[in-house]
Amino acid sequence: MELIDGKKVAQKLREELKEKVKLLESKPSLAVIRVGDDAASEIYVKLKRKMCEELDITFTEYHLDKSIEQTDLIDLIEKLNDDESVNGILLQSPIPYHLNIIEAFERIAPEKDVDGFNPINVGRLAQSQECFAACTPVGIMKLLEEYNIDITGKNCVVIGRSNIVGRPMAQLLLNANGTITVCHSKTKNLAEITKTADILVVAIGNPKFITADMVKEGAVVIDVGINRLTDTKKLIGDVDFENVKEKCSYITPVPGGVGPMTIITLMGNVIKAYENQHK
Ligand code: NAP
Repeated sequence: MELIDGKKVAQKLREELKEKVKLLESKPSLAVIRVGDDAASEIYVKLKRKMCEELDITFTEYHLDKSIEQTDLIDLIEKLNDDESVNGILLQSPIPYHLNIIEAFERIAPEKDVDGFNPINVGRLAQSQECFAACTPVGIMKLLEEYNIDITGKNCVVIGRSNIVGRPMAQLLLNANGTITVCHSKTKNLAEITKTADILVVAIGNPKFITADMVKEGAVVIDVGINRLTDTKKLIGDVDFENVKEKCSYITPVPGGVGPMTIITLMGNVIKAYENQHK
């Protein structure tokens, strides 16, 4: 079994991106909109700011009050769309329930949509065209590439069908010529399906849900899950790592697997947006 070291790969990509930014005529810039006071969002945005600072990417946060109206949010998005000094726009989710996040994502200009949630980008991904796609699944594709894991003709099983992970993951694997099965909470005989997987991607949010008997000998197992244990506060994945690792050819740990790839992929997308806008 070989461990897929996301931390190491992300560090390598970070150094590459740093060098890339140095060669640009000006600094790329990312605008992040955060609405309300969700504690986890505050941490995620801080991490994004830190990474931008490290890469010399201009970072601007727009922190809006939780009581804002939808029109205020859309007005800000439109303002950032029109601002030539802004290359990437990211709306941090979740946002308060009275706001319509789908409409907000729709209003972010597709060429600045570095999170890949605008339906134009989602549609382009579905048609295997050049686009911005969600950062976590793109990061996973980079890990597979880095470890020379071939996808062509492989049985790929994705568990989870969220817009952030499962769906774009399935699409990217399909675009890379995998044979795809997507499972979710209504799937019957899940273990029978997971046992057919050459590449198994798990994005559920349920600690140690995937046990060794659900995994084929020699499979590649990608654990997207991040679950914090209430007693020890330890982070663990959706895969029973200790037992599953004995059976597979490659596996991602939690933490240190998929997690570090998400933020570095976002940075790559901001630089790509800058380059596209300066062609
Ligand atoms: P989500 O929106 O809650 O989606 C979870 C998916 O899992 C749903 O499609 C759900 O099915 C499916 N599911 C739930 N229970 C299941 C079961 N017993 N059997 C089969 N499928 C089941 O979550 P998400 O945003 O995709 O995130 C998933 C996990 O990845 C979370 O732990 C999250 O923290 C983590 N995550 C990590 C990163 C990273 O950077 N590493 C990024 C994003 C998310 P239904 O559609 O039928 O409800």
